[in-house]
Amino acid sequence: CGIIGVLGNHEVAPLLVESLKRLEYRGYDSAGIATVNGGRLDRRRAVGKLVNLSDLLVHEPLAGKAGIGHTRWATHGAATVGNAHPHRSGPVAVVHNGIIENFRELREEAAAAGLRAETQTDTETVALITRMFIDRGLPPREAAVATLKKLEGAFALLWIFEGEDDLLIAARKGSPLAIGHGDGEMFVGSDAIALAPLTDRITYLAEGDYAFVTRKGAEIYDAEGRRANRDETRIDLGA
Ligand code: GLU
Repeated sequence: CGIIGVLGNHEVAPLLVESLKRLEYRGYDSAGIATVNGGRLDRRRAVGKLVNLSDLLVHEPLAGKAGIGHTRWATHGAATVGNAHPHRSGPVAVVHNGIIENFRELREEAAAAGLRAETQTDTETVALITRMFIDRGLPPREAAVATLKKLEGAFALLWIFEGEDDLLIAARKGSPLAIGHGDGEMFVGSDAIALAPLTDRITYLAEGDYAFVTRKGAEIYDAEGRRANRDETRIDLGA
C-alpha cells in the first residue's frame, strides 16, 4: 500500500525502511525491500509490522545503494512472506500498489514461456512478464515498457534489475507516484510524505506516465510513449 525507491550514494536499506514507516498510516499487512548491490539483486520480506522487517535486516542485512521497498495491503493472495513484495523473477524485482486485473491471462502467458508463478498475487505476473521479455533479449527499459502495454488495472509500479545499479523504472496508472530529486540521488515514492526526509524537490508523474530514473535524473514519458515534461515543485511539509 506504499512504495519507495532510492538510487542513493549511501546504503539504502535504512532509508527504505524509514520511508516505509512514513507510509504506515496507509495500513499494511507485510513489508519488504530489494536492493541491487554490485549488480546483485536480493530481497528481504516480513509479515506484520515493519519492526519485523527491521529485525530480519539486523540478522540478514541487505547491502546496496539502489533499492525499492513496499508495504502491502493484500488484495490477491494471503498476507504471507511468499506473497509479500518485492516480487522477483530472475533478474527482475517489482513493487506494486493496486490491482492487475488481467493477471490470470498474464500468468498463463508466462507459464507458456516456461515461467511458472510461485505466489498467489496479481503482482508477481508483472515480474514474470518482464523477465519473459528479458529472456527474449530486450534490455530492461524496453522489457518494462513492453510489460506495461499488457497491464490492465490500477497500479503504481517500480522495477529494479540485476546488473543495474543505476536504474529504477516507475509507472503509474490510477495510483499516484512522486519522483524526488536529490543531489546526485533520486527517489520515487507513493507520495511526497514518504520522500520528505530525503528531498523537498518533487515531480509528480501524470496519469499514464512512466519514467526511467538514474542518479542523473528522470526521463519521463506519457502513456503514448512521448517524452513528457512535468514540473518540479518544492514542497513544504513542515517536517
Ligand atoms: N494487489 C497487490 C497484492 O495484493 C498489491 C496490493 C497493494 O497495493 O499493497 O499483492
